[in-house]
Amino acid sequence: ALPASEIIEKDRNHVWHHLSQHSVLKHQDPLVMVKGVGSRVWDAKGNSYLDASSGGVWCVNVGYGRTEIADAIRDQVLKLNFFASTAGTAPAAEFAEKLLEKMPGMSRVYYASSGSEANEKAFKIVRQIAQQKHGGKKHKILYRDRDYHGTTIAALSATGQEERRMHYGPFVPGFVEFPHCCEYRSQFGDVSNYGVLAANELEKVILREGPDTVGAVVFESITAGGGVITPPEGYWPAVMEICKKYNVLIHMDEVVCGMGRTGKWFGYQHYGIKPDIVTLAKGIASSYAPISCVVTTEALFDEFIADSSDRAAYFRDVSTYAGCTAGPAAALANLQILERENLVNNSAQMGDYLLKQLVTLKDKYSVIGDVRGKGLLLGIELISDSKTKKPVAEEVAIKIAGMCMKKGLIIGRTNRSFTHFNNTLCLCPVLTLTQKEADFIVATLDAVFRELLESVDLLSSTLVES
Ligand code: PMP
Repeated sequence: ALPASEIIEKDRNHVWHHLSQHSVLKHQDPLVMVKGVGSRVWDAKGNSYLDASSGGVWCVNVGYGRTEIADAIRDQVLKLNFFASTAGTAPAAEFAEKLLEKMPGMSRVYYASSGSEANEKAFKIVRQIAQQKHGGKKHKILYRDRDYHGTTIAALSATGQEERRMHYGPFVPGFVEFPHCCEYRSQFGDVSNYGVLAANELEKVILREGPDTVGAVVFESITAGGGVITPPEGYWPAVMEICKKYNVLIHMDEVVCGMGRTGKWFGYQHYGIKPDIVTLAKGIASSYAPISCVVTTEALFDEFIADSSDRAAYFRDVSTYAGCTAGPAAALANLQILERENLVNNSAQMGDYLLKQLVTLKDKYSVIGDVRGKGLLLGIELISDSKTKKPVAEEVAIKIAGMCMKKGLIIGRTNRSFTHFNNTLCLCPVLTLTQKEADFIVATLDAVFRELLESVDLLSSTLVES
């Protein structure tokens, strides 16, 4: 094995890191991780951390160092390394069946290799249905402000985060944004029917665009990276009614919320949503292998069955790695672990426990404006004024994440939005989380908030976002 200093040196000199400031990278040692077991990771300098970010990108649901998944990948690759684009394979067939058992109402699994790619494929399905069935109408896809759907240009065209989009326009035509439903940042004031009012924003946009032009709407059931935004009471029933009224397909992006993250197998199942399309990635194989899926209803699949003389109807999409055998083999082993260790339930229970502790912290520190989430997908929104809910500056969230890290805890945070607030700390630990580990997370945050309170500089008005 390479000595730590050499790994760090090679990394600094040769690797272009995601989302990093190069000026910093050139002058500081990069963070290099070398080992992971359960909920813990170790860096090249020997420091160990409890990773409450599941790899920084909400994805290692069953935890690090899972030999069952490694063995499943190895066994499968030695037996057959093959491609779903060319033929059916045993792990692809078996995993599809097991997955669908968890998704009543859904019926077909189409493989891809990343969350962005799964969303792209879902958009292509909508576009092809628009052409085949609606003569080119119903081609528009609506998405929400603050939701994220991926890194490719079309997925970014469906993403409501200006900080991700700012350098990459022009975007793909036919993607239309509508407002989110964040009750804490209420756009309608303090009202009892917030969920319905927020859903009405969708109807307004459908009517403005023309219902015959709108084919689908894509949602995160709980917005993850955009601020851990949970839907208000009454939101989803109203949304479903609107979509039914205007014959608009519902596409749930479960890339983060899927596979037990929110305390149910899928986030949309908390709200009785009946999707036409579900996209999955990240936790589907806890990211041990690159695999993602587009899952559809049988009715949607049938849109692509024309009579045998009509060759135009099949889905003209293919990609090399989609469903490549290592992926479904890993996903199958991952699903078996989730089942055997009852981790979806653990996510619900430990999530409730952690949220209760976070409420206690909120009562203690006025810099915490709101705590929210479901299962082990939780957010802590930071403010500098409890009356106006003025957000703290981004530097405060960065500082807090850094202070946690020094104490052996990795947490996530949302990026600042340019259009309105966003300074939310994110907790999404692995689903095996124990009460002892949850207590460590809370104790560390408590210590950090206490230190923050004592540090006049940090919360001074110069750091408050204007
Ligand atoms: N959808 C959501 C909700 C996501 O959070 C992400 C990734 N953060 C994606 C899609 C894109 O997934 P990937 O990075 O695998 O392309």
